[in-house]
Amino acid sequence: MPSLEKDAKFCPYCGSTLDKVFVEGQWRAHCPECDRIIYDNPVPVVAGVIIKDNKVLLIKRGIYPRKGFWALPAGFVDTHETAEEALIRELKEETNIDVKAYRFLKTINQKGMRYTSVLIIGFQITEYEGKIIPGDDAVETKFFPIDNIPELAFSSHNILLDSTI
Ligand SMILES: [Zn+2]
Repeated sequence: MPSLEKDAKFCPYCGSTLDKVFVEGQWRAHCPECDRIIYDNPVPVVAGVIIKDNKVLLIKRGIYPRKGFWALPAGFVDTHETAEEALIRELKEETNIDVKAYRFLKTINQKGMRYTSVLIIGFQITEYEGKIIPGDDAVETKFFPIDNIPELAFSSHNILLDSTI
C-alpha cells in the first residue's frame, strides 16, 4: 500500500476520485473504480536523543516544516529500512557521527503536517564515534543544557526528552 498524503483525493492505483466508506470503526478513503480501501497508516519517523554531561544534542532545521527551529536529529524511515537502520543513517547524515549503541525509548503517534499522522520512534544513543558536524538538512548542531533548551520544532521531541530523564 502506498502511504497517503493528507487529504488525498485520487486513487493511487487508478487515479479515480476517492469516496469514503465506513469500515472497521472509521471512515476510510475508498476507490469506487477498483473497490480498494486506501488505508491511511501513520508514517514512521525515527528520532535520536544524545545526552552528554547533562546536555542534549540538537540540530537547527534547514528545511521546512519548522525551518530554523531546533530539534532532535530525526527523519523518515525509508521503504526498505528498519527503524534502527534509519536511525544510524539519519544521525550520520545530520550530525556525521557513527552510532555504536542505542536503546529504544518509546513511540509517539502525532498529527503530521504533511501526513495525517506520523509515528515517531525514539531512541537514546548511548555510544557513538566521530566528530559532530552538521549536514544534510541540519544547518547547525549544538549541545544545550537539558533544563534550558530552546523551543523545539515538534512537541513529540519534548516527550522523548522527558522519557530519558
Ligand atoms: Zn482505484
